[in-house]
Amino acid sequence: MAQLRFIFLYVGQGDGTFIILPDNTTILVDLGSLKNSETAGKNAVKTIADELTALGKTSIDYLFITHSDRDHNNLLWELDLKITGTGLYSYPFTNVYIGGEKSNYHDFYVGLLLNNKETAGKLTLFGDSDHDTSTTPRWPAASMGGVDMYLLSANVPTRKNALPNPKSIVLMLSYQGWKVILSGDAEETAEDYMLHTAYATTLAFLKSFALKLGHHGAETATTDGWLQAVLPDCSVISSDQKWGHPYCTVLKRLEDQTTIWTNSNMKHGYVCGAFNRKRSRSGDDARYNWTNIDDTRLIFTTLVKADDAQLSSVGGHYELLIRDSDQKINFKMWTGLAGVAQESGWFNANGT
Ligand SMILES: [Zn+2]
Repeated sequence: MAQLRFIFLYVGQGDGTFIILPDNTTILVDLGSLKNSETAGKNAVKTIADELTALGKTSIDYLFITHSDRDHNNLLWELDLKITGTGLYSYPFTNVYIGGEKSNYHDFYVGLLLNNKETAGKLTLFGDSDHDTSTTPRWPAASMGGVDMYLLSANVPTRKNALPNPKSIVLMLSYQGWKVILSGDAEETAEDYMLHTAYATTLAFLKSFALKLGHHGAETATTDGWLQAVLPDCSVISSDQKWGHPYCTVLKRLEDQTTIWTNSNMKHGYVCGAFNRKRSRSGDDARYNWTNIDDTRLIFTTLVKADDAQLSSVGGHYELLIRDSDQKINFKMWTGLAGVAQESGWFNANGT
């Protein structure tokens, strides 16, 4: 039975998605953390290394670093050391793709990695406002274990632009009729580029089952227009308490513009934050009030449970599986950093 697996990692404040294609090709989209990396980040690194061991592999086939912000790439050195176990860097990423310029990257290890891959001819930078047409995936299924993968956006408006977030790589994977969009830290500028320039005449192409919200669910991303085009049935957000991510106002947009599916087996917690002006002076971590939500809708935040004092916060990884035998999907939730705690069971495209 072939299946496509996405593991949305809880890294603390940062991002990381590990993908295993049906033919065991592996893809890592970002790996970084600027808060809680000592626990969550380390666990994410170990999770990837364990999955590779189970596959009998010692390297990752495709590494995408969506953009240069360190919360998306500062754990790559730790993963390198974990995979090799020798205390020496081996750069175990076969093909590397980055958003922005090489000179935008200031993490020490990432600098070495990019130089190493450039010398080997395995580093790819994208052009200004680069994207694929709806009919031609850049990484076609024939070479990707049956999965078509598209570059939806990169380097908006140009690679030389000073702002890192609009230069984020945005990917779409399409398998057995299911589409998943990974947005990196793309915000309104990039969403507008996709809506009004890249896919203005092929908007229906953007309709996807799952959307990983841009920029951790910040208010500067996930516009109404973008949601109306993608119309996700489920959403995933990489969140942590350093910021109010995802903002409750953004979840409200999701609620207003889309019909997120429910799955009765999947009663779970997710969170959202709101800025609290009164508490804004009390330090970096206490500027937000947190709302904990418990329901069966397919909205997943990697911060599963939050409290204003940050005394009992819980994070977890989420796994989305799509199998080819009957085109069914399954969600798994790994909470408490201790393995699978909850599972939706296999269900159909109509949500049943
Ligand atoms: Zn980020």
